[in-house]
Amino acid sequence: MDWLTHFIWQDLLWHNGKLLGIDWSVWKVIGWLGNAVFFSRFFVQWYATEKKKQVVVPQAFWWLSLVGSVTLLCYGLFYLKDSVVIFAYAFTWIPYTRNLIIHRRNKAAQLVCAGCGKKAPPYSNFCPNCGGRLATVTS
Ligand SMILES: [Zn+2]
Repeated sequence: MDWLTHFIWQDLLWHNGKLLGIDWSVWKVIGWLGNAVFFSRFFVQWYATEKKKQVVVPQAFWWLSLVGSVTLLCYGLFYLKDSVVIFAYAFTWIPYTRNLIIHRRNKAAQLVCAGCGKKAPPYSNFCPNCGGRLATVTS
């Protein structure tokens, strides 16, 4: 087991006298945080999908996408100054923001069933929970 301890400490965690062999700076921390936030969205989406047993993209996915990609855009713009990274994240905030707006509008337009008190999708005629007729507002 001594070789394993040596391998983990000397080759993986503390490589060439640096944590993970990385030259750490403020921008490296920001870049890795952006990476971690952006990567974590996959687990959030996966968990939500497994929980509902259908493909679901929760609102948290879009927030993590937005925060992660804007952080990585800043990393590309101000630290790397690399056109490939800048272009990769330059426009992704547009669909992320749009999806957050649509999410919010949809949530605001949900109907509340007078029978059971559960929420129903916008424009529903019947409650998906109890089957009762929903009061529709005509304008
Ligand atoms: Zn109901």
